Amino acid sequence: MSEFRMTIAGKTTDNGATFGVINPATGSVFAQAPECTREQLDAAMNAAAEAFKDWRRDDARRRQALQDCAAAITAQAAELAPILTQEQGKPLAKAMEEIMGASFWFQYTSTLEIPVEVLSDTDTSRIEVRRRPYGVVAAITPWNFPLILASWKIAPALLAGNTVVLKPSPFTPLSTLKLGEVLREVLPPGVLNIVSGGNELGSWMTSHPVPRKISFTGSVATGKKVAAAAAPDLKRVTLELGGNDPAILLPDVDPKKVAPQIFWGAFENCGQICSAIKRVYVPEKLYEPLVDELANLARGVKVGNGMEDGSQIGPLNNKPQFERVKELVGDAKKHGARIVTGGEPVGGSGYFFKPTIIADIQDGTRLVDEEQFGPALPIVRYSKVEEAVEKANATHFGLSGSVWSSDPARATEVAKELECGTAWVNQHLAILPNTPFGGAKWSGIGVENGTWGLLGFTEIQTVNVAK
Ligand code: NAD
Repeated sequence: MSEFRMTIAGKTTDNGATFGVINPATGSVFAQAPECTREQLDAAMNAAAEAFKDWRRDDARRRQALQDCAAAITAQAAELAPILTQEQGKPLAKAMEEIMGASFWFQYTSTLEIPVEVLSDTDTSRIEVRRRPYGVVAAITPWNFPLILASWKIAPALLAGNTVVLKPSPFTPLSTLKLGEVLREVLPPGVLNIVSGGNELGSWMTSHPVPRKISFTGSVATGKKVAAAAAPDLKRVTLELGGNDPAILLPDVDPKKVAPQIFWGAFENCGQICSAIKRVYVPEKLYEPLVDELANLARGVKVGNGMEDGSQIGPLNNKPQFERVKELVGDAKKHGARIVTGGEPVGGSGYFFKPTIIADIQDGTRLVDEEQFGPALPIVRYSKVEEAVEKANATHFGLSGSVWSSDPARATEVAKELECGTAWVNQHLAILPNTPFGGAKWSGIGVENGTWGLLGFTEIQTVNVAK
């Protein structure tokens, strides 16, 4: 692997200390990433603050820059994809999809407009509601989708006129560092700075005096720390946090028809998606047929190294996550749940876990109540739809959820009862660049994507002119 370096003030940095990045398919370190020092973080923040002075002024230039970013990402996709697969674990084709998705997000975002509303325009006054950028945005991303989640932050932040200092997860810093190199060629110095390091670097960023806005994606526990760190300085925050998404099947559903969608809604990216299906509520009469269908799908999937042809599900990304999935599945077994298929690691040195379907399990079990973030899906029985909705809502999480039925109108009525940011009907994981995405309750504050996400990188300025 070539050397990976940070991007600060448009330049590559000399690496001092580094840390090892593990390939989860092998369990071994395969590359080194730079450990950002406090001085380097200060330099990145100062470069972003300096670049902001000019960057905020020319809307057309920013729009063009986003299109140039999209083209640059597409041009380098083949180089980025194997880096992403080796640090994250996902199959190469999925890494490519993520990268092309990031490019598309830049392209789409470049077409958005920031509205100016004229509230009144009379002989005596004109009142406009305008939007200003914040200044420097500190952006922090997790390890499940490092590049697409970075694009959700960088593209709208830059379009709105902000500049950015972004830190990827220490588990997956490499593809983002490479992205910094790629975008360095098309953005003015200081507009986008990429730093890497451990969790401590994240807390230096959130308590740093320069940024006025923090855009964070990660777990609920860290999100609360970020909110607390932002409070003394009243920094604005957008928090995209964890989820425990329910899928509710109504009694008129055909289990055979919906099973593949439910399966991939849960197991895509090895279950490591904030808004993946994490628990399924099924009426008694459909219960065994659905469990059978899901178990057959789980048995038929090829789990393997993402660099090998044909792998559909890679390993879990890291050792703590691998241990956590083992622990939650073990706890379910201990409490009498039925492991229909899977239930254990594949074996060998990587963090591979067999796709697991768990039946005869209830709310109150950790695997149902907590966010497993891995390839183990609990299937829960219900007798009345109201009861399923109540269980679905009996949680601090509120990211998304789905309702499945042959009657979409009826399912929509049920979906609207879910206490979550996105309610899907007869689909799950339909996330689009023009559609706001965010969590209710502990799943977050604010939204990303579309005009709503863009406005999250601005604050209102009322301009009231006496004539
Ligand atoms: P995490 O919270 O452990 O880490 C996320 C990022 O925060 C990493 O870059 C980490 O280094 C940094 N960090 C850690 N401690 C910090 C601190 N004190 N201050 C500032 N930054 C700090 O999350 P993870 O394990 O990387 O990601 C998995 C979680 O992310 C899951 O809960 C998942 O549901 C959630 N997620 C949410 C969304 C969404 O859009 N809602 C998307 C993807 C993932």
